[in-house]
Amino acid sequence: MPEHMLRFVSTPQQTPEKRAVAERAHDFGEIYRIFADQEASRQASRCSQCGVPFCSVHCPLHNNIPDWLKLTAEGRIEEAYEIAAATNNFPEICGRICPQDRLCEGNCVIEKGFESVTIGAVERYITDIALERGWVKPIVPRQELTASVGIIGAGPGGMAAAEELRRRGYRVTIYDRYDRAGGLLIYGIPNFKLEKQVVLRRHALAEASGIRFELNCAVGHDVGLDELRRRHDAVLIATGVYKPREIGGPGSGLAGIVPALDYLIASNRDNLGDTVPGFASGMLNAAGKRVVVIGGGDTAMDCVRTAVRQGAVSVRCLYRRDRANMPGSMREVKNAEEEGVEFVWLSAPEAFLGDASVSGVRAVRMHLGLPDSSGRQSVDPIPGSHFTLEADLVIKALGFDPEDLPAMFGETGLEVTRWGTLRINSRSFMTSLPGVFAAGDIVRGASLVVWAIRDGRDAARRIHEYVTQQRALPVAAE
Ligand code: FAD
Ligand code: SF4
Ligand code: SF4
Repeated sequence: MPEHMLRFVSTPQQTPEKRAVAERAHDFGEIYRIFADQEASRQASRCSQCGVPFCSVHCPLHNNIPDWLKLTAEGRIEEAYEIAAATNNFPEICGRICPQDRLCEGNCVIEKGFESVTIGAVERYITDIALERGWVKPIVPRQELTASVGIIGAGPGGMAAAEELRRRGYRVTIYDRYDRAGGLLIYGIPNFKLEKQVVLRRHALAEASGIRFELNCAVGHDVGLDELRRRHDAVLIATGVYKPREIGGPGSGLAGIVPALDYLIASNRDNLGDTVPGFASGMLNAAGKRVVVIGGGDTAMDCVRTAVRQGAVSVRCLYRRDRANMPGSMREVKNAEEEGVEFVWLSAPEAFLGDASVSGVRAVRMHLGLPDSSGRQSVDPIPGSHFTLEADLVIKALGFDPEDLPAMFGETGLEVTRWGTLRINSRSFMTSLPGVFAAGDIVRGASLVVWAIRDGRDAARRIHEYVTQQRALPVAAE
């Protein structure tokens, strides 16, 4: 065992400093600070260098975690970064926003009572340092190919695939309907989890690597999928899932009841310095309002915490199951509670009250019943248990489904599953259309950034195999 390691017995777990509530609840800055140099090495040295590292097994990218922890413990940060970057295109992003408690850290085998190694914070540290010191360079392919790939969607899935294809020498163009690259990283996830400068920096690196971006270009509207198939040797669809799940019931059409993503996009745009028409006094701003957010996932957590920062009078989160059964990360629930959010567990909306604009939510208490075949407990309303929450703004955060891509692209031959996600061959990543591949949320349904990166990398490999089989790849003249 290397002398620097196995310090978990003598060195307690330390997470990076979290900014005090009184400070962080009033701005959109990230809440965790980066490790100080010595602390990163100390924390990395707690790893016991397992022969079969369960942390890596449970990381969707199978990162070589013990290797970069050992190098960090030894102060060899540049080498640590190179190993981290070999399996992950955006380690500083995953280090910030992966739900580590469910993935790598949740499976660290350090004995109970000693707490896991703080893997995510170390991953962020080594990559932030690498970026700061200029060790992260734009991609320079060993050879330029004439073959090209078109990617629809500049989210983490599309961006990771673009990097991997560019590395192999492909000409890559990413088409995105937004005006900025990043997908949900730029317009969904709020600044306090992921500062936008981190995402913009990755966009700049991609451009410097020769990846072309056609922004403000909605495929199916500004250009057809058929046209992209003519332009490119292969096309990757990485469009994510954006159709919000709706709530019905009396009053659900009242003004002041808004979809989560509209709300988060407006806030992110405002933070990016964009002019959002009517934002200061409009529906999409929680300042001075009593806010009720409906839902229990990460999107709901992002909405409640955004409302706190915008200066809401009160923020409540209504969720039909209990704390133990909510899908959102426990770390985010804890952060929200610290910031003053009130959780109303085991409660579901029945009706929305108000004349033109919403003034309250009538809710009913729920109880958890027996588990179904999937093991998930049923939830049933408790008769006569109604109550009302006053609200000037209600944010619907019940999750997302895929848009109707065959209709959007005018391609009836593009097969979808019964959930509306794209059907792909699980080995080749190809859809039902030859030469058209798919990756990320549009295949998995709403998932995680780290899975989108994994899919993007895998799809790039399969696209390369496909294009190579189609034709001998000519190298471009210098
Ligand atoms: P996306 O990131 O959705 O990117 C898709 C891109 O495709 C977008 O830029 C979109 O504009 C573009 N596009 C769509 N249709 C078209 C079209 N027709 N033409 C051109 N472009 C198009 N995951 C985590 O791991 N940690 C978190 O903390 C976390 N928080 C989240 C918070 C919120 C509010 C939300 C909504 C999701 C969160 N997620 C989180 C999930 C994560 O963001 C997604 O799983 C991930 O971004 C999916 O990546 P993707 O590349 O498949 O799609
Ligand atoms: Fe953990 Fe995510 Fe990093 Fe994998 S990518 S090691 S799951 S933080
Ligand atoms: Fe180190 Fe924990 Fe991974 Fe084992 S499981 S290699 S102790 S981080």
